[in-house]
Amino acid sequence: MDGEDEVRKRGLLERLAAGPVLCAEGYLFELERRGYLQAGTFVPEVVLQHPEALAQVHRELVRAGSDVIEAFTYYGHREKLRSIGKEHLLEPLNRQALELAHSVAAETEGEAPLVAGNVANTNVYEPGAPDVAAEVRSMFEEQVRWAVEGGADYIIGETFYHAGEARLALEVIRQADIPAVVTLAVPAGGELLDGRSPEDACTILEEEGASVVGLNCFRGPATMMPLLRRIREAVAGPVAALPVPYRTTEEHPTFFALPDPVSDDVVPGGRTFPLALEPFQCNRFESAAFAEAAVQEGIRYVGLCCGCAPHHVREMAEALGRTPPASEYSPDMSKHFVFGTDPSVRHRAASTDM
Ligand SMILES: [Zn+2]
Repeated sequence: MDGEDEVRKRGLLERLAAGPVLCAEGYLFELERRGYLQAGTFVPEVVLQHPEALAQVHRELVRAGSDVIEAFTYYGHREKLRSIGKEHLLEPLNRQALELAHSVAAETEGEAPLVAGNVANTNVYEPGAPDVAAEVRSMFEEQVRWAVEGGADYIIGETFYHAGEARLALEVIRQADIPAVVTLAVPAGGELLDGRSPEDACTILEEEGASVVGLNCFRGPATMMPLLRRIREAVAGPVAALPVPYRTTEEHPTFFALPDPVSDDVVPGGRTFPLALEPFQCNRFESAAFAEAAVQEGIRYVGLCCGCAPHHVREMAEALGRTPPASEYSPDMSKHFVFGTDPSVRHRAASTDM
């Protein structure tokens, strides 16, 4: 394509004004399943050690319809790298994650996906501890600086279960003068650990300059939606919703404690999180139904967190009226050997036989 024919790449705010933005996440779980990331510490060393594997996941999610490539710097912060004795890899990891995201974005035909930088829960934040807050702030500052220098279109601050930590991240992102999408992860009790309700915290974050506020992770569609409705009521601007695609329930509102009696004796400690969540996985249609319902509720920024896979994203994109490249292979059961209805299928077995 020459310069004149090139499709102009719109920014996040322009896209939100025009319609829903679809953002696929869940890199940690997906790369762990594929054998490129260790569960437990969950440090994204894959960025440096197997960039081709990460690029492939980026590629698949864009192909399935994600409008965004989130650079994989989740848990790529100083505290995590220190915990595995590899602090020297911190800056190269962050810089390479942005480069990789851009390189996959550049492969796209048509309008290029947005590239988002990312900061997240540090797990060391403590309410009312100024020393810790200063440390957390400096961790955010360096990651945001590298993301901005790496050409991020906006920054996602996510999975904060303290309102205070989310505000700190937002302040740092705003200082860099780049749009912020800030999403909270709400524990089973329904409030953040520093006592704020999700809607109060989102109201504050919006007032303090977040372009998009909302929720990600911890909760599946069923137990996130009621909180999203309250947030939608409380705030004026765009709301984000990125549940985990797992069937959480009122009794077990988060994916940390889903009991599976069937596999109790083989799953270590009987704890299904994070390695034995498959029995609770939402299917692609449930994911699509969530996307549709969310948009109907007035939510503009929709996606999935841990557990997300390309087939969910394609179904969500199609539910939003899109035809991403992966739709070339969307299901067509008309020529299935048992269930097909096309006259070309020579049925030897009826579905009742099977
Ligand atoms: Zn998650």
